[in-house]
Amino acid sequence: MDKCSFCGLERKDVNFLISGIDAFICDQCVEQAHGIVEQAHGIIEEEFKTDNKFDIGKIKLLKPKEIKAFLDQYVIGQDQAKKVLSVAVYNHFKRLKQKIEDDEIEIEKSNIILVGQTGTGKTLLARTIAKKLNVPFTIVDATVFTEAGYVGEDVESMLTRLLQAADYNVDAAEKGIVFIDEIDKIARKQDNPSITRDVSGEGVQQSLLKLLEGAMVNVPPQGGRKHPEQKMISVNTKNILFICGGAFDGIEKKIAKRLNTKVVGYGMHKEMQYIDRDNLLQYISPQDLRSFGLIPEIIGRLPILAYLEPLSRKSLRKILTQPKNSLVKQYIKLFQLDGINLTFEDEALEFIVDKAIEFSLGARGLRFICETIMNDAMFEYPSKKIKQLCITKKYAESKLDLSTSRRLKAS
Ligand code: ADP
Repeated sequence: MDKCSFCGLERKDVNFLISGIDAFICDQCVEQAHGIVEQAHGIIEEEFKTDNKFDIGKIKLLKPKEIKAFLDQYVIGQDQAKKVLSVAVYNHFKRLKQKIEDDEIEIEKSNIILVGQTGTGKTLLARTIAKKLNVPFTIVDATVFTEAGYVGEDVESMLTRLLQAADYNVDAAEKGIVFIDEIDKIARKQDNPSITRDVSGEGVQQSLLKLLEGAMVNVPPQGGRKHPEQKMISVNTKNILFICGGAFDGIEKKIAKRLNTKVVGYGMHKEMQYIDRDNLLQYISPQDLRSFGLIPEIIGRLPILAYLEPLSRKSLRKILTQPKNSLVKQYIKLFQLDGINLTFEDEALEFIVDKAIEFSLGARGLRFICETIMNDAMFEYPSKKIKQLCITKKYAESKLDLSTSRRLKAS
């Protein structure tokens, strides 16, 4: 006997039954289910209300010098990048605050691209700036993006993250900042014979272009792939500031090649003599990004190009102690909370820097090395009577024993 799998009524007791693969549903249950779905959408809409205005007027417009001074408290060196970034952000907010009158000149958005080896402070710069500005901010990794329809994420998913960071206040999200990390990984693969489609390369760049230019984009609020049943939120990317970062491994070769070809020209020899071959990144130009595989349209939408210098030994040493929340300050604070007075000998700090350089781990390695050295103490000292600990070079050496060194060397 056919009956509704939901309410159990038989065919004769209902207007009609709809049959599924191995179930039935009656007209009344369909109505009821429809009501539930509607209600759920209603709740979602309520959650993502778009009339919540974000008052940009309340944000204090900091002068470029003030922004840089703030960055200086957290990021060591990278003066050129800091200056460029400070000006770009200042202009961006001036633009947002501008009340467009008919005859006024409209200031165009200037997205930014930061080029520098990993661990030189690209993300740190973006994160620090966002902290000061009080606007929604999110970091996304470009390596997860693929063309729509392929395994991976659509580029629109970065706006989902931004919406989440803005507590689903669309107006706030539309004035936020997105940091796209590893932008170099979506460069067109030059040696790709193009028989197979370049699903994570040029295709992604094309879809990213739309966002960078400024467009109304339908964003799935909960993330994931778009599907027709999902309620979408429209987000205008016109005022979102995009900061892209990438290591662009090997771009120095392209820079060198460009500089060398220039020398061939008459009278250029003198100029070449002044080229600092150890840090070619400082001569980076949009052309090099193009040779690396970014499409010209994308480069055109990232008009502000800044580079980050490789961190010198001196910078690494400063990173340990100088930033407002430096690693050393953090450990001292952690121990202080247990009433323990922690100090570091200079030689121990030099040793940590030496190891970071030896294993080519850069600034990221500092944390790992410190953790390895400090772990035993963090385990034992809270239960000890002694309330004093000085990290000497000898202590550091003994903790970073041979096996750890081997592990680091192997990786
Ligand atoms: P990137 O994004 O360039 O790969 P990050 O900004 O994520 O590198 O840096 C990794 C970590 O190294 C940071 O969290 C920070 O602790 C440290 N670091 C890197 N560069 C600097 C710098 N210039 N000043 C202070 N700390 C830095």
